[in-house]
Amino acid sequence: MTEPTPLVVAIDGPAGSGKSSVSKQVARRLGYGYLDTGAAYRALAWHVLAHGADTSDAAAVIDANGDFDYAISLDPDDYWVSVGDHDVTDAIREPVVSDAVSGVARVPVIRESVNALFRRLVAGSGLPGVVVEGRDITTVVAPDAPVRILLTAAPDVRAARRSAELTGHDAAAVAAALHRRDSSDSAVVDFLTAAPGVTVVDSTDLDVDETVAAVLVVIADATGTVA
Ligand code: C5P
Repeated sequence: MTEPTPLVVAIDGPAGSGKSSVSKQVARRLGYGYLDTGAAYRALAWHVLAHGADTSDAAAVIDANGDFDYAISLDPDDYWVSVGDHDVTDAIREPVVSDAVSGVARVPVIRESVNALFRRLVAGSGLPGVVVEGRDITTVVAPDAPVRILLTAAPDVRAARRSAELTGHDAAAVAAALHRRDSSDSAVVDFLTAAPGVTVVDSTDLDVDETVAAVLVVIADATGTVA
């Protein structure tokens, strides 16, 4: 018997827009899976650094991708990421990985290979739906998804949120690193402008629960259900 195709809720947005916490919470509320696509880029950056290589070296990144044994949980209540035998769930959030990840994300063959992986993970999930979050989900990974959302927030609010997450790090340095990463990432994917048919949810003045409620309304409208 063929498995039913999961409904994809595609959510794009920049760092600090609330994407991860909101997507996880929406997935819980709907009984869907949650796929954090940024984690694949982060895990590969971690793997490149573990090889002692530099992520600005595209050849070294492609080489490291050859033995990149990556796995991720789609369960919003049991989130983990692994590379080989290493649980890298926490390590991939370290600033050293955040600073290196854009180098990995700008290599076209890497994007193609992780995108194929994301589509396989969703198709084989056996779940009624999956909330897939990232930078190019609404445009490249799942442009035909029935629900496509761009989650935005003002730059200063995004920087403040990221710095609140990274306790013990200097707020100004966190903001500078976030803006640096935005600017390298936006040279590869435009995640600040909504593509045609994509609904914008601006979380600048919303807390997580309010943003979740706003996203659930968009999903209900798009799928003809009640939020
Ligand atoms: O979402 P997160 O901040 O964890 O993403 C980490 C990095 O992965 C981004 O800075 C970007 O370079 C890359 N990324 C991407 N496309 C995606 C998701 C993430 O290029 N769909």
